[in-house]
Amino acid sequence: MTPSTWQDRYSASMMGTFAPPLAQIVRGSGCYAWDDTGREYLDFLAGIAVNSLGHAHPDLVDAVTRQMGTVAHVSNYFASEPQIALAEHLQRLTGAGSAGRVYFCNSGTEANEAAFKLARLNVAGGRRTRILALTDSFHGRTMGALALTGKAAMRAPFEPMPGGVEHIDATLEALEASIDDTVCALVLEPIKGEAGVIGLPDGFVTRARELCSRHGALLIIDEIQTGIGRTGAWFAFQHEGVTPDALTLAKGLGGGLPIGALVTFGAASALFQLGQHGSTFGGNPLVTAAANAVLATIERDDLVGNAARRGEQLREIIARLHSPLISEVRGQGLLLGIGLNRPVARALAAAALEAGLIVNAANDSTIRLAPPLIVGDAELEQFERRFGQALATL
Ligand code: PLP
Repeated sequence: MTPSTWQDRYSASMMGTFAPPLAQIVRGSGCYAWDDTGREYLDFLAGIAVNSLGHAHPDLVDAVTRQMGTVAHVSNYFASEPQIALAEHLQRLTGAGSAGRVYFCNSGTEANEAAFKLARLNVAGGRRTRILALTDSFHGRTMGALALTGKAAMRAPFEPMPGGVEHIDATLEALEASIDDTVCALVLEPIKGEAGVIGLPDGFVTRARELCSRHGALLIIDEIQTGIGRTGAWFAFQHEGVTPDALTLAKGLGGGLPIGALVTFGAASALFQLGQHGSTFGGNPLVTAAANAVLATIERDDLVGNAARRGEQLREIIARLHSPLISEVRGQGLLLGIGLNRPVARALAAAALEAGLIVNAANDSTIRLAPPLIVGDAELEQFERRFGQALATL
């Protein structure tokens, strides 16, 4: 029999790597999206921290439409103005400056693949093979990024992994016990988003910077989820007052178009040599024009400041809901994890969806919020109403 509903067509045609979709989204505008039955959702997940400007933002639509009608793709045999402008913009915003360099790819996992290869090139002394990464971290699904990912169950079916990666707990003790002159890089997320929006211990990043510098290891910060204004700074590392050797970006950078980037600082910018890495699509004029529009709009409308302010307001709202189910709120800016004292996050996310609110269960006891950076008073009011309704069902 020919499948007729979209659900049947999905399961009869799509690879079984994802859980059955929650709805079929047909349209979005600002912080709202609508499904094929006309149901409205307040989108507080933003495609997992991707739609920084919300849905169908006119600046992004204009930039992409204009670029598509001009030139969309040229290959890396040729340069394009949007690509160079975006690299310059990232040099400025990250503080990497003129000593920094940018490599473009198409996703977060690819940005981390590039970072992994960068680490392998850091062979000062000729005896560096070890890469340190954190337990419970998430860096992507391709083999190098998966090797960095600190979740054994995700790696297990695909062993053997690319070698040399060791996972350590995010404690100062573990860090000090593991790092020495045989380590080529330490890779970390400032806030472990996929693990349940878990921050690092105070002083961890500063100590990591000191130890990496002392031992000649690269400090590689994965800001794929935390970057581009989400935590109330352009990049979360800027809250710490340290400078990494390399930074990986994706998600919010393209506002919905697929783009990733590796940004290097200082001496790390000279590690990759001609022909050692590449991508057919990476940094094409279409996606870089989109990313330029995202960055320009964030700057013009002070959406980094908005993320900081709205994040505080969201915390106040969550406290005001007085739910006995909520034990704490973690995270920073507009990347928040609502910790529950029972493992009912999936049921709560489902109840929220019923109430017209998209959030997600980062794990059994954490609801993750990552709304668009444009979120305002009206959306926060709706969040309070709809999330309150969802909480009342449990
Ligand atoms: N790194 C971090 C911190 C992430 O949160 C993610 C995605 O959730 C990735 C890497 C992988 O990005 P992508 O799904 O674009 O490959």
